[in-house]
Amino acid sequence: MIEMKDISVRYPGTHTDALSEISISFQQGEFVCILGKSGAGKSTFVRCFNGLQKLTHGEIYLKGNPVSPSNDEEWRTIRRKTGMIFQHFNLIPRLSVLQNVLTGMFGYRSSFKNLIGWFTTQEKELAKRVIADVGLAAMEHRRVENLSGGQKQRVGIARALVQQPEILIGDEPVASIDPGTAEHIFNMLQDIHRRLRLLTIINVHDIDLAKRYATRIVALKEGKVIFDGHPGDFTNEE
Ligand code: ADP
Ligand code: ADP
Repeated sequence: MIEMKDISVRYPGTHTDALSEISISFQQGEFVCILGKSGAGKSTFVRCFNGLQKLTHGEIYLKGNPVSPSNDEEWRTIRRKTGMIFQHFNLIPRLSVLQNVLTGMFGYRSSFKNLIGWFTTQEKELAKRVIADVGLAAMEHRRVENLSGGQKQRVGIARALVQQPEILIGDEPVASIDPGTAEHIFNMLQDIHRRLRLLTIINVHDIDLAKRYATRIVALKEGKVIFDGHPGDFTNEE
């Protein structure tokens, strides 16, 4: 579904590659956890999937077709199909759960009407459905700033799902959440993954979580892939 050929990223002003000549591909239906120490390149890697991270070298193919790095229109289309969840949620605290989830639609139909808060009945129905899917139906009108960390991340997941994505990317989505709640979030991600067959790619610090939920583990070290395989075969030698 998505193939990366020989990709490298070097940040301006640095002398080593944050990602170094990685060739790897991912199929629909995989649940991939990306492991690695802080600085290994995990966050840079997942940002390559939606074009937010420009490559220094290499190519990305989507369903067999090369994606041109400079074709912003093409990347916008890809971003619409790529839901993202973040460590710090990236929600708008003073807005309600429903309003935050609706912002997920800006990506694919951002008109003046959207910006001032007008959405079609169908769009609102879809938003309410995904809010129910993440277990927050009773909290639709609560301000996000009044929610717990776990609840905020559920809102983050709902905002990604309202895009009806083909790929779900998580950049350390449970790093700011207590272990018990992190487990609930992973259960939810697994349910969503099974139901929608999304390609799910998640950075995680916790090896144990990765081993229990992933169908595949990719471990990075200093910008290179040092393990790519079945979670059962992963041993932490670092
Ligand atoms: P984390 O441990 O969650 O990966 P980091 O402290 O590595 O967080 O990075 C936080 C932010 O700072 C990221 O947006 C990252 O791109 C940026 N960043 C990380 N390292 C550097 C650096 N050497 N120079 C400039 N920005 C950096
Ligand atoms: P991880 O997510 O595994 O912590 P990152 O992808 O954030 O790793 O960082 C990989 C490497 O790139 C690190 O050495 C980090 O310091 C560096 N880096 C990240 N963001 C930036 C940036 N904006 N500018 C310069 N260096 C960066």
